[in-house]
Amino acid sequence: MKRVLFATTNKGKVAEIKEILSDYDIELLLLSDIDFDTDVDETGTTFKENAAIKAKAAADHILVKKPEFLDCVVMADDSGLEIDAMGKMPGVQSHRWLGDRSYKQAMEDIINELEGIPEEERSARFVCAIVSLVYDPDEKIWKEHTVQETVEGMVAHEICGENGFGYDPFFYVPEFGCTTAQMTPEQKNLISHRGKAVTAIGKLLLKEGILEKK
Ligand code: IMP
Repeated sequence: MKRVLFATTNKGKVAEIKEILSDYDIELLLLSDIDFDTDVDETGTTFKENAAIKAKAAADHILVKKPEFLDCVVMADDSGLEIDAMGKMPGVQSHRWLGDRSYKQAMEDIINELEGIPEEERSARFVCAIVSLVYDPDEKIWKEHTVQETVEGMVAHEICGENGFGYDPFFYVPEFGCTTAQMTPEQKNLISHRGKAVTAIGKLLLKEGILEKK
């Protein structure tokens, strides 16, 4: 069994990742398992840069303070929502951009801002980049793999659905005729940016012999 440390504290993400990697022979660890509670500054301008910043911060912590975890595959993701009519905002700032607002308030603000624009200009996508780091004890370096996936959709006219998290209740996927918050977790994982990215990194690490299926 391989230990995979996913560098996040977001419970919504953890639930999704656990489900997607359920057929791999892994033990999923979180930042609390390596006593890492420092807020990492996401200073990158792309999802890939921010995912790498988060993964490297966890890997550095392991190297310096928790070498007993050097056998872990360290993974981190960075994700967000791009709304075309808003110049791809909030993008990498999807969480920070809320400010003091709840998600409900922020989504209502966006719906109001987009009122009256043509339907085809309501296009949006969720993006997810994942970086994985595997320590090579001979070369004494972390070897990096990166994937990035998206799911295309539209900003709905109203908030709808109770599942998922964050901006799910107003992210409408035309092929399914509902928002990602109206999908079951299994449906969302099949089509979502994170579902596709976690699946892709799993396959890549399987091909390299780093991970195995159960
Ligand atoms: P991160 O933790 O820096 O990757 O922040 C991602 C932010 O983007 C989340 O806090 C949400 O605001 C938004 N986001 C990313 N993925 C999803 C999703 O699957 N559903 C809804 N919102 C998401």
